[in-house]
Amino acid sequence: MISAREGLRRLREGNLRFASDACVRNALTGEERRRELSAGQEPFAIVLGCSDSRVPAEIIFDQGLGDLFVIRVAGNIVAPSQVGSVEFAATRFGTRLVVVLGHTGCGAVQATLEAIRQPTHEASRNMRSIADRIRPSVEGLLAADRGPDPSALMARAVRANIRASAGHLRHGSEILERLIASEELVVVGAEYSLESGVVSFFDGVPEGG
Ligand SMILES: [Zn+2]
Repeated sequence: MISAREGLRRLREGNLRFASDACVRNALTGEERRRELSAGQEPFAIVLGCSDSRVPAEIIFDQGLGDLFVIRVAGNIVAPSQVGSVEFAATRFGTRLVVVLGHTGCGAVQATLEAIRQPTHEASRNMRSIADRIRPSVEGLLAADRGPDPSALMARAVRANIRASAGHLRHGSEILERLIASEELVVVGAEYSLESGVVSFFDGVPEGG
């Protein structure tokens, strides 16, 4: 299996190709690759990303079929089924790298900030279950916020939510904790910029990775 470091390198290179409009993805999604993979998969990274239509993991990392095991949910939150999906891929395929991928301007984070500022009963129970998982990491920021700049608060909230999800994956499961302790799994947090197309890995990146 490809190491977490090598996985990170591939993602960084792929994102660089994407952001500079030099994708090679067509070669990785063709008929030959599809046939090759029909017997099994060995994805080199697990990506827990937001459902936002502008942040499809395979495209922004310029990866092909069989490369990424992708879990997408609004606000890249961690609920039991997300933990279970990561556990599944890590134990079944031996994937060594997990990336929690948030993004600038995340609507789920924005909606949570709005709901904290001005509670309404408009959101359904199901939508509230998403906001409730974002709320703990952003509530404190809102309380401490004295600045006039809402976009700065939003930027901090997006990163806090990514850090919280990555932390939750690192500590929310015995299986994942064990894999991390034995250096068989690395969980990193990353933010995609809608504006530049560039992904910044800012949380939990191993030294030299
Ligand atoms: Zn989002």
